[in-house]
Amino acid sequence: MSERIDVNEIWDEVKKAAGKAEKKTNELIDRSKIKISIMNVNSEIKQKYQKLGEIVYYNKNNKIDDEDIIRICIAELDGLHIKLENLKKKANEAAKLKTCPNCGTANGKDASYCSKCGSEF
Ligand SMILES: [Zn+2]
Repeated sequence: MSERIDVNEIWDEVKKAAGKAEKKTNELIDRSKIKISIMNVNSEIKQKYQKLGEIVYYNKNNKIDDEDIIRICIAELDGLHIKLENLKKKANEAAKLKTCPNCGTANGKDASYCSKCGSEF
C-alpha cells in the first residue's frame, strides 16, 4: 500500500515556508536599517553639539554677539532629537516592543502597563 503524495500540497508548504523566511529576512533588514539611521543621527547630533560649542567659544573670545547662529544650531539640534525619537520608536515597533506614549520607554509586546511610569496601554 503506497501513500498518495500530493505534489501541490508539498509545493504549497514549500512556498509558505519560503514566504515566512523572506518576511523574517525583511524584518531583519528593516531593523538593521533603522539601527544604522539611529547611529547616523547620533553622530550628526554629536557633530552639531561640537559645532555649537565652537561657535559659542569663538563668539565669546571675539566679543561677537550673534545669537542668531546659535538659535539656528539649537533649532537644528531640536530637529535631530525629534528624528532620533521617531527612529527609536520605529526600532521598537520593528522589534515588536511597545513604546510608552507617556515617557517613551520600550516595553515588552505583552505589557499592559509601562514598566517605568505605570501608564496603561
Ligand atoms: Zn511610561
